[in-house]
Amino acid sequence: MTATLIDGKAIAQQIRDEIRDTVSRQTQQGQRPPGLAVILVGSNHASTVYVGHKRRACEEVGFHSEAHNLDADISEAELLALIDKLNHDSTIDGILVQLPLPDHIDTETVIEKILPSKDVDGFHPYNVGRLAVRLPLLRSCTPYGVIHLLDSIGEVYKGRNAVVVGASNIVGRPMSLELLLAGATVTVCHRFTSDLEAHVRRADILVVAVGKPGIVAGEWIKPGATVIDVGINRTEDGKLTGDVDFEAARERAAYITPVPGGVGPMTVAILLKNTLEAAKLHQQASS
Ligand code: NAP
Repeated sequence: MTATLIDGKAIAQQIRDEIRDTVSRQTQQGQRPPGLAVILVGSNHASTVYVGHKRRACEEVGFHSEAHNLDADISEAELLALIDKLNHDSTIDGILVQLPLPDHIDTETVIEKILPSKDVDGFHPYNVGRLAVRLPLLRSCTPYGVIHLLDSIGEVYKGRNAVVVGASNIVGRPMSLELLLAGATVTVCHRFTSDLEAHVRRADILVVAVGKPGIVAGEWIKPGATVIDVGINRTEDGKLTGDVDFEAARERAAYITPVPGGVGPMTVAILLKNTLEAAKLHQQASS
Protein backbone atom coordinates (compact mmCIF):
# COMPACT_ATOMS: atom_id res chain seq x y z
CA MET A 1 0.00 0.00 0.00
CA THR A 2 1.23 3.50 -0.74
CA ALA A 3 -0.50 6.09 1.36
CA THR A 4 -2.51 8.99 -0.04
CA LEU A 5 -0.90 12.30 0.90
CA ILE A 6 -3.06 14.73 2.85
CA ASP A 7 -2.51 18.11 1.19
CA GLY A 8 -2.52 20.58 4.08
CA LYS A 9 -1.52 23.42 1.82
CA ALA A 10 -4.63 23.04 -0.34
CA ILE A 11 -6.97 22.55 2.63
CA ALA A 12 -5.49 25.58 4.42
CA GLN A 13 -5.89 27.70 1.27
CA GLN A 14 -9.55 26.70 1.05
CA ILE A 15 -10.12 27.86 4.64
CA ARG A 16 -8.29 31.13 3.93
CA ASP A 17 -10.38 31.73 0.80
CA GLU A 18 -13.60 31.15 2.77
CA ILE A 19 -12.45 33.60 5.47
CA ARG A 20 -11.52 36.23 2.87
CA ASP A 21 -14.99 35.93 1.30
CA THR A 22 -16.71 36.23 4.69
CA VAL A 23 -14.67 39.30 5.66
CA SER A 24 -15.32 40.93 2.29
CA ARG A 25 -19.06 40.34 2.69
CA GLN A 26 -19.08 41.66 6.27
CA THR A 27 -17.09 44.82 5.48
CA GLN A 28 -19.37 45.56 2.53
CA GLN A 29 -22.24 45.43 5.03
CA GLY A 30 -20.47 48.06 7.13
CA GLN A 31 -18.85 45.87 9.80
CA ARG A 32 -15.30 46.63 10.87
CA PRO A 33 -12.74 43.97 9.82
CA PRO A 34 -11.47 41.49 12.44
CA GLY A 35 -8.28 42.79 14.10
CA LEU A 36 -5.22 40.80 15.17
CA ALA A 37 -2.32 42.17 17.23
CA VAL A 38 0.90 40.19 16.89
CA ILE A 39 3.53 40.67 19.60
CA LEU A 40 7.12 39.64 18.97
CA VAL A 41 9.71 39.97 21.74
CA GLY A 42 13.31 40.00 20.52
CA SER A 43 14.54 38.99 17.08
CA ASN A 44 14.72 35.17 17.06
CA HIS A 45 15.01 34.29 13.36
CA ALA A 46 12.37 31.52 13.26
CA SER A 47 9.90 33.63 15.28
CA THR A 48 10.42 36.62 12.97
CA VAL A 49 9.67 34.39 9.95
CA TYR A 50 6.52 32.91 11.60
CA VAL A 51 5.24 36.37 12.59
CA GLY A 52 5.80 37.59 9.03
CA HIS A 53 3.71 34.69 7.67
CA LYS A 54 0.90 35.41 10.10
CA ARG A 55 0.79 39.13 9.28
CA ARG A 56 0.79 38.51 5.54
CA ALA A 57 -1.99 35.95 5.96
CA CYS A 58 -4.03 38.57 7.87
CA GLU A 59 -3.58 41.11 5.09
CA GLU A 60 -4.55 38.55 2.43
CA VAL A 61 -7.94 37.88 4.06
CA GLY A 62 -8.66 41.56 4.78
CA PHE A 63 -8.05 41.63 8.56
CA HIS A 64 -6.71 44.68 10.34
CA SER A 65 -3.34 43.64 11.76
CA GLU A 66 -0.92 45.35 14.10
CA ALA A 67 2.72 44.43 14.73
CA HIS A 68 4.25 45.07 18.13
CA ASN A 69 7.96 44.33 17.86
CA LEU A 70 9.50 44.67 21.30
CA ASP A 71 13.13 44.65 22.44
CA ALA A 72 14.37 41.37 23.91
CA ASP A 73 15.10 43.10 27.24
CA ILE A 74 11.58 44.49 27.73
CA SER A 75 10.35 43.78 31.26
CA GLU A 76 7.52 41.36 31.98
CA ALA A 77 5.53 44.26 33.49
CA GLU A 78 5.83 46.28 30.27
CA LEU A 79 4.67 43.33 28.18
CA LEU A 80 1.71 42.73 30.51
CA ALA A 81 0.80 46.44 30.27
CA LEU A 82 0.73 46.23 26.47
CA ILE A 83 -1.53 43.14 26.62
CA ASP A 84 -3.81 44.97 29.04
CA LYS A 85 -4.08 47.89 26.60
CA LEU A 86 -4.89 45.51 23.70
CA ASN A 87 -7.43 43.68 25.88
CA HIS A 88 -9.32 46.98 26.10
CA ASP A 89 -8.87 47.96 22.43
CA SER A 90 -12.20 47.50 20.63
CA THR A 91 -10.53 47.25 17.19
CA ILE A 92 -8.51 44.19 18.29
CA ASP A 93 -10.20 40.76 18.41
CA GLY A 94 -7.12 38.57 18.75
CA ILE A 95 -3.82 38.92 20.60
CA LEU A 96 -0.99 36.63 19.62
CA VAL A 97 2.25 36.55 21.59
CA GLN A 98 4.85 34.68 19.56
CA LEU A 99 6.58 31.99 21.63
CA PRO A 100 9.19 31.27 22.89
CA LEU A 101 9.63 34.31 25.12
CA PRO A 102 12.99 35.31 26.66
CA ASP A 103 13.83 33.48 29.91
CA HIS A 104 13.17 36.49 32.18
CA ILE A 105 9.47 36.51 31.13
CA ASP A 106 7.08 33.90 32.52
CA THR A 107 5.14 32.42 29.58
CA GLU A 108 2.16 31.23 31.64
CA THR A 109 1.71 34.66 33.26
CA VAL A 110 1.67 36.25 29.80
CA ILE A 111 -0.79 33.73 28.34
CA GLU A 112 -3.13 34.16 31.30
CA LYS A 113 -3.05 37.96 30.90
CA ILE A 114 -4.71 37.72 27.48
CA LEU A 115 -8.48 38.05 27.65
CA PRO A 116 -9.81 34.52 26.91
CA SER A 117 -12.08 35.93 24.16
CA LYS A 118 -8.95 37.37 22.44
CA ASP A 119 -6.82 34.23 22.96
CA VAL A 120 -6.74 33.26 19.27
CA ASP A 121 -3.85 30.81 19.85
CA GLY A 122 -6.20 28.86 22.14
CA PHE A 123 -3.49 28.53 24.83
CA HIS A 124 -5.29 30.19 27.76
CA PRO A 125 -6.26 27.69 30.51
CA TYR A 126 -9.87 28.90 30.14
CA ASN A 127 -9.98 27.84 26.49
CA VAL A 128 -8.11 24.56 27.08
CA GLY A 129 -10.48 23.89 29.99
CA ARG A 130 -13.52 24.52 27.79
CA LEU A 131 -12.18 21.97 25.31
CA ALA A 132 -11.68 19.50 28.18
CA VAL A 133 -15.33 19.82 29.28
CA ARG A 134 -16.68 19.54 25.72
CA LEU A 135 -17.52 23.23 25.37
CA PRO A 136 -14.83 24.35 22.91
CA LEU A 137 -14.62 28.03 22.06
CA LEU A 138 -11.22 29.23 20.79
CA ARG A 139 -9.26 26.04 20.06
CA SER A 140 -5.48 25.56 19.92
CA CYS A 141 -4.50 26.16 16.30
CA THR A 142 -2.31 23.16 15.45
CA PRO A 143 -4.51 20.45 17.03
CA TYR A 144 -7.69 21.95 15.58
CA GLY A 145 -5.91 22.13 12.23
CA VAL A 146 -5.17 18.40 12.52
CA ILE A 147 -8.89 17.77 13.13
CA HIS A 148 -9.66 19.65 9.89
CA LEU A 149 -7.17 17.41 8.04
CA LEU A 150 -8.74 14.27 9.52
CA ASP A 151 -12.25 15.50 8.70
CA SER A 152 -11.12 16.14 5.10
CA ILE A 153 -10.45 12.42 4.61
CA GLY A 154 -13.75 11.41 6.22
CA GLU A 155 -12.30 10.18 9.53
CA VAL A 156 -15.09 8.77 11.72
CA TYR A 157 -13.17 8.75 15.09
CA LYS A 158 -15.73 6.63 16.98
CA GLY A 159 -14.42 3.14 17.66
CA ARG A 160 -10.92 4.09 16.46
CA ASN A 161 -7.70 3.98 18.48
CA ALA A 162 -5.94 7.34 18.36
CA VAL A 163 -2.39 7.60 19.67
CA VAL A 164 -0.78 10.98 20.29
CA VAL A 165 3.01 10.98 20.71
CA GLY A 166 4.07 14.12 22.59
CA ALA A 167 2.21 15.83 25.42
CA SER A 168 3.15 19.52 25.27
CA ASN A 169 0.67 22.22 26.25
CA ILE A 170 0.50 23.59 22.73
CA VAL A 171 0.22 20.41 20.66
CA GLY A 172 0.05 16.97 22.33
CA ARG A 173 -2.30 17.70 25.23
CA PRO A 174 -4.94 19.73 23.36
CA MET A 175 -4.61 17.22 20.48
CA SER A 176 -5.62 14.41 22.82
CA LEU A 177 -8.61 16.48 24.02
CA GLU A 178 -9.68 17.17 20.42
CA LEU A 179 -9.56 13.47 19.53
CA LEU A 180 -11.45 12.55 22.71
CA LEU A 181 -14.09 15.17 21.88
CA ALA A 182 -14.40 13.70 18.39
CA GLY A 183 -15.11 10.25 19.87
CA ALA A 184 -11.81 8.38 19.45
CA THR A 185 -10.25 6.18 22.15
CA VAL A 186 -7.13 8.14 22.98
CA THR A 187 -3.68 7.18 24.29
CA VAL A 188 -1.07 9.87 24.99
CA CYS A 189 2.64 8.96 24.92
CA HIS A 190 5.40 11.14 26.37
CA ARG A 191 9.00 10.84 27.49
CA PHE A 192 8.13 8.44 30.33
CA THR A 193 6.16 6.03 28.11
CA SER A 194 7.90 2.67 28.40
CA ASP A 195 7.03 0.94 25.12
CA LEU A 196 6.31 3.55 22.46
CA GLU A 197 6.42 1.00 19.66
CA ALA A 198 3.62 -1.12 21.17
CA HIS A 199 1.34 1.93 21.42
CA VAL A 200 2.12 3.13 17.90
CA ARG A 201 1.44 -0.35 16.46
CA ARG A 202 -2.17 -0.18 17.75
CA ALA A 203 -2.91 3.27 16.31
CA ASP A 204 -5.62 3.68 13.69
CA ILE A 205 -4.96 7.43 13.93
CA LEU A 206 -1.41 8.42 14.83
CA VAL A 207 -0.42 12.02 15.61
CA VAL A 208 3.26 12.62 16.33
CA ALA A 209 4.46 15.92 17.87
CA VAL A 210 7.83 15.48 19.55
CA GLY A 211 10.48 17.32 17.54
CA LYS A 212 12.81 14.32 17.06
CA PRO A 213 13.28 13.07 13.49
CA GLY A 214 12.73 9.32 13.13
CA ILE A 215 11.28 8.85 16.63
CA VAL A 216 8.54 6.77 14.97
CA ALA A 217 9.88 4.01 12.72
CA GLY A 218 7.98 3.26 9.51
CA GLU A 219 7.57 -0.46 10.31
CA TRP A 220 5.67 0.41 13.51
CA ILE A 221 2.76 1.86 11.51
CA LYS A 222 -0.40 -0.26 11.57
CA PRO A 223 -1.34 -1.15 7.97
CA GLY A 224 -4.10 1.22 6.84
CA ALA A 225 -3.50 3.78 9.58
CA THR A 226 -3.73 7.54 9.19
CA VAL A 227 -0.44 9.22 10.11
CA ILE A 228 -0.28 12.93 11.01
CA ASP A 229 3.26 14.21 11.47
CA VAL A 230 3.33 17.53 13.34
CA GLY A 231 7.10 17.55 13.87
CA ILE A 232 9.23 20.13 12.09
CA ASN A 233 12.97 19.44 12.16
CA ARG A 234 15.82 20.76 10.04
CA THR A 235 18.30 18.20 8.74
CA GLU A 236 22.04 18.86 8.43
CA ASP A 237 21.60 19.65 4.73
CA GLY A 238 18.98 22.29 5.59
CA LYS A 239 15.85 20.36 4.58
CA LEU A 240 12.68 20.18 6.68
CA THR A 241 11.63 16.78 7.97
CA GLY A 242 9.02 15.44 10.36
CA ASP A 243 9.21 13.02 13.30
CA VAL A 244 8.05 9.93 11.40
CA ASP A 245 10.23 7.86 9.05
CA PHE A 246 8.15 9.07 6.10
CA GLU A 247 9.30 6.80 3.24
CA ALA A 248 8.76 3.56 5.19
CA ALA A 249 5.56 4.80 6.84
CA ARG A 250 3.90 5.72 3.54
CA GLU A 251 4.23 2.09 2.42
CA ARG A 252 2.00 0.96 5.32
CA ALA A 253 -0.36 3.87 6.02
CA ALA A 254 -3.58 4.65 4.13
CA TYR A 255 -3.14 8.41 4.61
CA ILE A 256 -0.11 10.44 5.64
CA THR A 257 0.84 14.13 5.92
CA PRO A 258 4.05 15.33 4.28
CA VAL A 259 6.52 17.67 5.96
CA PRO A 260 6.49 20.39 4.76
CA GLY A 261 2.99 20.93 3.32
CA GLY A 262 0.94 18.90 5.82
CA VAL A 263 0.10 20.26 9.27
CA GLY A 264 2.22 23.44 9.04
CA PRO A 265 -0.06 25.49 6.74
CA MET A 266 -3.10 24.57 8.85
CA THR A 267 -1.82 26.35 11.96
CA VAL A 268 -1.97 29.80 10.31
CA ALA A 269 -5.33 29.03 8.66
CA ILE A 270 -6.86 28.16 12.05
CA LEU A 271 -5.35 31.27 13.61
CA LEU A 272 -7.32 33.29 11.04
CA LYS A 273 -10.44 31.21 11.69
CA ASN A 274 -10.11 31.82 15.44
CA THR A 275 -9.68 35.57 14.90
CA LEU A 276 -12.85 35.65 12.78
CA GLU A 277 -14.66 33.68 15.51
CA ALA A 278 -13.35 36.05 18.21
CA ALA A 279 -14.60 39.04 16.18
CA LYS A 280 -18.03 37.40 16.01
CA LEU A 281 -18.04 36.92 19.80
CA HIS A 282 -17.06 40.55 20.37
CA GLN A 283 -19.68 41.83 17.96
CA GLN A 284 -22.38 39.71 19.63
CA ALA A 285 -21.29 40.98 23.06
CA SER A 286 -21.47 44.64 21.97
CA SER A 287 -24.83 44.45 20.17
P1 NAP B 1 7.82 20.30 23.00
O1 NAP B 1 7.18 21.35 23.81
O2 NAP B 1 9.30 20.13 23.03
O3 NAP B 1 7.14 18.93 23.41
C1 NAP B 1 7.63 17.71 22.94
C2 NAP B 1 6.84 16.60 23.56
O4 NAP B 1 7.42 15.37 23.16
C3 NAP B 1 6.85 16.62 25.09
O5 NAP B 1 5.53 16.42 25.54
C4 NAP B 1 7.74 15.45 25.46
O6 NAP B 1 7.32 14.75 26.60
C5 NAP B 1 7.55 14.53 24.28
N1 NAP B 1 8.68 13.61 24.14
C6 NAP B 1 10.00 13.87 24.22
N2 NAP B 1 10.72 12.75 24.04
C7 NAP B 1 9.82 11.76 23.83
C8 NAP B 1 9.94 10.38 23.60
N3 NAP B 1 11.13 9.79 23.54
N4 NAP B 1 8.81 9.66 23.44
C9 NAP B 1 7.60 10.24 23.49
N5 NAP B 1 7.42 11.56 23.70
C10 NAP B 1 8.53 12.31 23.89
O7 NAP B 1 7.44 20.45 21.46
P2 NAP B 1 6.07 20.98 20.76
O8 NAP B 1 6.01 22.44 20.87
O9 NAP B 1 4.93 20.15 21.21
O10 NAP B 1 6.40 20.63 19.24
C11 NAP B 1 6.64 19.30 18.81
C12 NAP B 1 7.07 19.32 17.36
O11 NAP B 1 6.03 19.86 16.58
C13 NAP B 1 8.30 20.21 17.07
O12 NAP B 1 9.03 19.63 16.00
C14 NAP B 1 7.68 21.51 16.60
O13 NAP B 1 8.55 22.25 15.73
C15 NAP B 1 6.48 20.99 15.85
N6 NAP B 1 5.37 21.94 15.78
C16 NAP B 1 4.79 22.10 14.55
C17 NAP B 1 3.72 22.95 14.41
C18 NAP B 1 3.09 23.11 13.07
O14 NAP B 1 2.41 24.08 12.82
N7 NAP B 1 3.27 22.14 12.17
C19 NAP B 1 3.22 23.67 15.51
C20 NAP B 1 3.81 23.46 16.75
C21 NAP B 1 4.88 22.59 16.87
P3 NAP B 1 7.26 15.39 28.07
O15 NAP B 1 5.98 16.19 28.08
O16 NAP B 1 7.19 14.21 28.95
O17 NAP B 1 8.47 16.24 28.20
